[in-house]
Amino acid sequence: MKLTIIGGGMTGLSAAYLAAKQGYQVTIVEAADKAGGLLNTFEIGGNQLEHYYHHFFTQDAELHWLLKELGLADQTIYKKTTMGVFREGVLYDFNSPFDLLKFKPVGLFDIFRFGMSSLYLGKIAKWKENEGVSTLSWFYKWAGRNMTDALWKPMLDIKFGPYADKVPLAWMIGRLAQRLNSRKGGDERLAYIGGSWKTLLDTLTGKLKEMGVEILVNEPVEEFIVEEGELKGIKTRTREFDGGKYLLTIPSLYFEKIKNSGLDDNGVEYFGAVCTILELKKSFSRVYWMNVADPGFPFGGIIEHTNFIPKEEYNGSHILYLSRYFAMSEDLATMTDEQIKEKMIPPLKKINPEFSEDWIKNVFVFKTKTAATVCDIGFSEKVPHCKAELKNLYIANMAHIYPDERSTNNSIRVAAEACKVMEINADQVPYGASLSGQIGF
Ligand SMILES: Cc1cc2nc3c(=O)[nH]c(=O)nc-3n(C[C@H](O)[C@H](O)[C@H](O)COP(=O)(O)OP(=O)(O)OC[C@H]3O[C@@H](n4cnc5c(N)ncnc54)[C@H](O)[C@@H]3O)c2cc1C
Repeated sequence: MKLTIIGGGMTGLSAAYLAAKQGYQVTIVEAADKAGGLLNTFEIGGNQLEHYYHHFFTQDAELHWLLKELGLADQTIYKKTTMGVFREGVLYDFNSPFDLLKFKPVGLFDIFRFGMSSLYLGKIAKWKENEGVSTLSWFYKWAGRNMTDALWKPMLDIKFGPYADKVPLAWMIGRLAQRLNSRKGGDERLAYIGGSWKTLLDTLTGKLKEMGVEILVNEPVEEFIVEEGELKGIKTRTREFDGGKYLLTIPSLYFEKIKNSGLDDNGVEYFGAVCTILELKKSFSRVYWMNVADPGFPFGGIIEHTNFIPKEEYNGSHILYLSRYFAMSEDLATMTDEQIKEKMIPPLKKINPEFSEDWIKNVFVFKTKTAATVCDIGFSEKVPHCKAELKNLYIANMAHIYPDERSTNNSIRVAAEACKVMEINADQVPYGASLSGQIGF
C-alpha cells in the first residue's frame, strides 16, 4: 500500500489523490520548487495567471469530477468565447458557420467542403482507423487546396512546425471532436477557474497533505535502485526512498537522465512552447483566440485572456498571450527572454496598426521544452507501456494522452487508467468525451 510518484504535475497529483483515497501511503517527488508542472501560475495585475494559457471544456467530465470532489465546482466560470483568424492582413471572425461565409481568402464551395469535412472528422470519423493517414493529405483531398492552404496548413505549421505533414488524422479527429462538442448552438463555451488554476493546485495539494500525502519539492529523481529486474528504490540528490510501487509521470524526454532506469524515450519527441505575456493598458483585439494564419509572424496564436476573464480581475490591465510552439532545432529553443521579447512585440503592429509599445505595462516570458508530444504517424507504437519491464515500475505521462489533445482533463484520465493498472480502484472517475487512456494500458 505504498506508492511513490515521480513528478508532481497534474498527472502525478491526480494519481496521488486517487491512491490516497484508497488508503495508499503516497509520496510525490518533484524536481521543481513547487508542484503543478505546466499548470503553474505567476502574479500579474494583482491576481494569479497561468504561465501558459489554460481553459477547459464543458465536456471535460474528469476535471469537473475533480473540481466537485474538491468543493470547487461553484468556482468554475463558463463563458462564450470568440475566435478569429488573421489571414491576408485581415482579422476574420470564426465563431459561427455564418462567419465562414465572410472568410474572403476562399470561395463558397471551399467553405462547403470545409464544413462537411470538419463535421465528418469531429462527429463521425473513428481515430483508430486513421492512425496511418496524414492530416494534411486528407485535408488537401477532402477540404480542398484553397481551404487547406488558407487555414489548415498554417494552423498545423504553427502547432507542429517541421512535423506538420506527419500529423496523423487520428490526432485531428480527437481535436475536432473536442472543439465541436464544446459548442452549443454554434457558440463555444469555455471554462476557467475563479482565481486561476492556482485555486485548483492549492486546494488539491492542501487536500493531499490532509490525506497524509508527502509532497517533496526540489528533489529531482536521479537514480533507480534495481535488483534482479525489480525496482527497489529511487534516489534524489539528498534522499533515498524504497518499497512499494513507483509511478513515473515525468516527460519521456527525461527518462534517460535517470541512472539505472534502462528507459529511453522510445522515439517520443516533444515540442517546446514559448508564451510571451503582455500586461497592457488597452485591449489589443476583439477576440479571445486569434490564429495568425499569415506567414512571417513569430507567434501562431494571440490569446487575449481578458476577452474571456474580465480585466477588472487584473486591476484593469488587459492580458495578451503571444503563443508559439517550437521544435528543439529552432532558434527559439535557445533564445534569451530579451531576444524573445524583441522578436515577438514589434510584429504586433502589423495586426493592429494602433498598437503602440506605450500600451505595455509589463512583459513576461515563459518557456518549456515539453509542451506537447510530437504525435506523428504510428505514434501509438511509441507510447510506453504503463506496466514497465522493471517490476514495481509504472509509467503514465503526456504520451498516454494520444490521440487526444494534451490537457489537464486528459491527465486525470491517464492517472485514473494508470491507477487501474496498479490495481488501485479509480472507478469513481467518470468517462467523458476523452479519447485518452486507451493506449499503453
Ligand atoms: C502552452 C500550453 C497551453 C496549454 N493549454 C491548456 C489548456 O488550455 N487546457 C488544458 O487543460 N491544458 C492545457 N495545457 C496542457 C496541460 O498543462 C498539461 O497537459 C498538463 O499540465 C500536463 O501535466 P503532466 O503532469 O502530465 O506534466 P507536467 O506538467 O510536465 O509535469 C511533469 C512534472 O515532472 C517533474 N519532473 C521532471 N523531471 C523530474 C525528475 N527527474 N524528478 C522529479 N520530477 C520531475 C516536472 O518538474 C513537472 O512538475 C497546455 C500546455 C501548454 C504547454
